Amino acid sequence: MTNIAFIGLGNMGGPMAANLVKAGHAVHGFDLVPAALDHARANGVTVAPDAATAVAGSEVVITMLASGRQVLDAYRDGLLAAARPGTLFIDSSTIDVADAVAARELAVAAGHRGMDAPVSGGVGGASAATLTFMVGAEAADFEAARPILEVMGGRIVHCGGSGAGQAAKICNNLILGVSMIAVSEAFVLGEKLGLSDQALFDVASAASGQCWALTTNCPVPGPVPTSPANHDYQPGFAGALMAKDLGLALNALEATGVAAELGPLAARIYRRFADEGGAGRDFSGIITVIRDNSAGA
Ligand code: NAD
Repeated sequence: MTNIAFIGLGNMGGPMAANLVKAGHAVHGFDLVPAALDHARANGVTVAPDAATAVAGSEVVITMLASGRQVLDAYRDGLLAAARPGTLFIDSSTIDVADAVAARELAVAAGHRGMDAPVSGGVGGASAATLTFMVGAEAADFEAARPILEVMGGRIVHCGGSGAGQAAKICNNLILGVSMIAVSEAFVLGEKLGLSDQALFDVASAASGQCWALTTNCPVPGPVPTSPANHDYQPGFAGALMAKDLGLALNALEATGVAAELGPLAARIYRRFADEGGAGRDFSGIITVIRDNSAGA
C-alpha cells in the first residue's frame, strides 16, 4: 500500500484514482471542482481540503491536469513545498515537452523526483485500467513508478529521459489527427463516386489504407458499431483535445524546424472544428464538416 496524492480528478483522473483505491492504495485527492470531489469520494478517495494537504503525507504525487500552465502553477503554488523530500512526482497530463522538462527540473530542484507519463486510451481506458503510459524518466524513477502505473494501465513504455513521454504522445497524436482527416476525405470522396461506406471499409480495412482511425474509430456509422459515429459523435476523444494536442505538435514542429506540411494543416483544421461547434464532439466528427463543405459540388 502506497500513500498517493492525486491532483486533478476530472474525466481521466477520476477513474484513474478510483483504480488506485481498488488496488488497495491510500489515495488523497484534490480538484478545484466540487462535483469531481464528490465523485472521487464516492469511489473511496480521501478528499483533501486543498492540494497541499493531499500531498503532505504522500510518497507519490500524480497530476492529471488540462495544460502545462496548470501543472507548472500547481507545482510552484504549493505541491512541491508541501511534499516530503524525495517524493515521486508523476505528471500524466498531456503538455508541451518543454513544460514537462521544466516541471521535472522544478521537482528535482525542490529535492524530489519527477517524470512525465502521459497516457492514451481515453476515458474508457482510464476506467478499464487499460491505458498506455508513455514515460519520460530516469531508469530508477521509472522502476519506482512502474507498479503504480500498472494499476492504471495495460501497457507501460519507457520512452527515454525527461520529456520523452510527451514527445511520444505528441508524435502519436500527430499521426492520429492527420490519418482521421485522410480517412474522412476518402469516405466523402467514395460517397461522391457512388461507393457505399461499407464497401470502402471492407476494402481499405484489409488493404494498405488500414489504420486505427478507420478500423476502430471509423468516422461513418455502420462498419464499426462501437465507433462514436454511431452515437452522434459523442466522445470518445473530444475535438477540443485533438485541437490542443495538435497545437502542442505544432509548437514542437516549429521548435525543431521539421519541414512538416500536413501537421500544421491538421492543427488548423481541428482548431477551426473545435471553435465552430466540434469542441465537445468526437474528433471523427470532422467528416461532417468535410461532407457539408462538399455539398454544393
Ligand atoms: P478534465 O478537464 O476533465 O480534468 C482536469 C481536472 O483538473 C479538472 O477537474 C480541473 O478542475 C482540475 N484542475 C485544474 N487545475 C487544478 C488545480 N490547480 N488543482 C486541482 N485540480 C485542478 O480533463 P481530462 O479529460 O481528465 O484530461 C486531463 C489530461 O489528460 C489532459 O492533459 C488531456 O489532454 C489528457 N488526456 C485526456 C484524454 C481524454 O480522452 N479525456 C485522453 C488522453 C489524455
